Amino acid sequence: MNHPTQIPLDIQGAQRFHGHFCPGLSLGIRISEIVLREIGPHSSDEAVVCIAETDNCALDAIQYFTGCSAGKGNLIQRDYGKNVFTFIRRSDGKAIRISARPAPRPAEGDPPAPQSREQRIQAILSAPINELFEVRPVEIEMPDKACILTSIPCVECGEATMSTRVRYFRGQPYCIPCYKALTQKP
Ligand SMILES: [Zn+2]
Ligand SMILES: [Zn+2]
Repeated sequence: MNHPTQIPLDIQGAQRFHGHFCPGLSLGIRISEIVLREIGPHSSDEAVVCIAETDNCALDAIQYFTGCSAGKGNLIQRDYGKNVFTFIRRSDGKAIRISARPAPRPAEGDPPAPQSREQRIQAILSAPINELFEVRPVEIEMPDKACILTSIPCVECGEATMSTRVRYFRGQPYCIPCYKALTQKP
């Protein structure tokens, strides 16, 4: 892989973690480069939080390289379908917003040059960062640290359910699937 990064990244490792190499993973590699340079590798203890506005392949590279992960709770997903990622450093509140620039539109009457998957990957890996992304500092409220909430057993299935997710029906606590099954009955 031709990759000009100044920060050595274990790209093979990211590929193993994700399962394949694709344009989305490549985008995530370039995003991680920005984050490691601007925010630093501080995510071992939720010290960096990522808010991702999409759920595509790029997220796996971001989890692998920046330590912002779904399980630790410092990767917050908003399903807006946008390649926009905001990273916040807890120690001083520094935050950057990284948004992928739209691919350049071909001129009128000019058919787009067909690009293979491999060509797209190489183009993403070798492009200058500012051609791929707009990166700007932002002011943002710090999301709460992941905390252990009390759980309540659902009266229907008996499974423990986080108290913030419990739904009440006639004063009884239900988990969301049981609540839906109960209230959506014809
Ligand atoms: Zn992928
Ligand atoms: Zn239930």
